[in-house]
Amino acid sequence: MLKQFFSYYKPHRRLFMIDFSSAVIVAILELAFPVAVQWFIDKLLPEGDWNKIFTVGVLLLIVYLLSTALQYIVSYLGHKLGINIETDMREQLFTHVQRQSFRFFDNTKTGHIMSRISNDLFDIGELAHHGPEDFFIAIMTFIGAFSIMFHINPSLAVITFIMVPFLIWLVTYCNIKMNQAWKNMYGRIADVNARVEDSVSGARVVQSFTNEQFEINRFKKDNGLFRTAKLAAYKVMAGTHSSIYMMTRLVTLLVLVVGAWFSFNGQLTYGELVSFVLYVNVLVKPVDKISALLELYPKGMAGFKRFLDLIDQEPEIQDRLDAVAVDHLMGNIHFEDVHFQYDDHKKVLKGIDLNIRAGETVAFVGPSGAGKTTICSLIPRFYDVDKGAIMIDGMDIREMTKHSLRSQIGIVQQDVFLFTGTIRENIAYGKQGASEEEIREAARKAHLEDFIASLPEGYETQVGERGLKLSGGQKQRLAIARMFLKNPPILILDEATSALDTETEKIIQLALNELAVNRTTLVIAHRLATIRNADRVMVVTENGIEEDGTYSELVQQNGLFARLHNIQFQGIEA
Ligand code: ADP
Ligand code: MG
Repeated sequence: MLKQFFSYYKPHRRLFMIDFSSAVIVAILELAFPVAVQWFIDKLLPEGDWNKIFTVGVLLLIVYLLSTALQYIVSYLGHKLGINIETDMREQLFTHVQRQSFRFFDNTKTGHIMSRISNDLFDIGELAHHGPEDFFIAIMTFIGAFSIMFHINPSLAVITFIMVPFLIWLVTYCNIKMNQAWKNMYGRIADVNARVEDSVSGARVVQSFTNEQFEINRFKKDNGLFRTAKLAAYKVMAGTHSSIYMMTRLVTLLVLVVGAWFSFNGQLTYGELVSFVLYVNVLVKPVDKISALLELYPKGMAGFKRFLDLIDQEPEIQDRLDAVAVDHLMGNIHFEDVHFQYDDHKKVLKGIDLNIRAGETVAFVGPSGAGKTTICSLIPRFYDVDKGAIMIDGMDIREMTKHSLRSQIGIVQQDVFLFTGTIRENIAYGKQGASEEEIREAARKAHLEDFIASLPEGYETQVGERGLKLSGGQKQRLAIARMFLKNPPILILDEATSALDTETEKIIQLALNELAVNRTTLVIAHRLATIRNADRVMVVTENGIEEDGTYSELVQQNGLFARLHNIQFQGIEA
């Protein structure tokens, strides 16, 4: 897994090298500083030469400036590296999700993908930035500082380093506590958010039950719990900072006292003593980094594993290597002994055979759950058949490229999905790069023109989540306009008018009839009045296609369709 992780550094090799080598130089300068001070006190001061001291001062200033510049580079480029890797992965993930098939979306929660795309990738990005760099620098600083201290005075060096494990333990312990506290706080704020979301989207229900005070009280409780959790987190934070501060001072004190004793015995110069005290501070940084890594590494790696789990899922429906791009299909559709099931629980289609001629309008009716939508989902290969085959114009659809097949099929459903954006953008979704003229023509054919003209901002009106709420009929006409733009030879209308009132339905039906001209059209409908014009009707039940014929033929057959017909028109014809 580490190897895979590091493969994401490849495109950013140069950035990594610059960042990494700058960090190494900064660390070396930090390591050298106490030695310089020691030399300053022990060698330079006794000489009493002002000119020399001034020259050394200027040199030190230059070194400081260099070090500052390098630290800027490390901080900026290091984060850039992390963000670049994070961005690459996020794009890869999104692209991967775009390529997935319907079954993937059936089984995956949106929130699940959202937390991969944000939380996990934040952690991975942090690890990518800090992981290798901080690990290496910390180890280097440890070894470097210990070697120099050991060189100056082995006994005092060992005494100082005995404290290091305690320091690491303390910092790690504090980090764990901090983490728990933050996690708890995030849980509480999630509760508060959920409460707000609920009572805002349910505001109408709240008010009709006059339960405002009840909602306020519930909210107060959650808000209070959040306050407690956040306060606890700050308490842990304050404790962490002060105990690390205290520990550092204790070590400094120890070095100072023991160092003084060595100094009295002539084993340590003043300069060496000061340099030891400075090294204690040099050591605190890598301890902090290592303990942060102890937390970052498992978190980032767990996120990376979840990332890989998603990335490794191959899309179910893929083009064969020898798939052919088709265009201008006629629209002859042929099902041959088609079997299909979504999961192991239930067989949905058990040997469907059907024939639809190009240009024909065929209506599917039958009880809900019989498999009408499923039959239609198989034609664009949203799912692949388990057994049997579907042919269009005599060619198995699995021999066509997915893209070319789907670009020949248009689907209008009961629920129209609008994207956040303008009316123009939502219509143009039917055809990338559609011209102004084409968009207006499509709107006109869908009987949308008058409605759009009545809007102050016309085609530029925002719709969807952050804009105008369209009525069911308006949305449906927008979907029809999209379809006029797409202009596919095969059209599927899946209960496109089922949610509309009869008045609106009549207008939409006009537009739909216009849309169906010169196309093979499959209509799924509840209300039989809407399929009077169909060339053929198929009755779908759990057992398959039970009746197949023209509207009047089926009424005369006195079977299932005739019964449905009688139920729906009883009131009118009696
Ligand atoms: P219809 O359109 O005739 O009402 P469907 O084709 O939607 O029926 O559904 C046929 C059967 O398949 C039903 O039992 C339904 O519960 C099941 N089904 C539909 N879609 C899915 C899905 N995405 N995953 C699992 N089962 C499904
Ligand atoms: Mg359906």
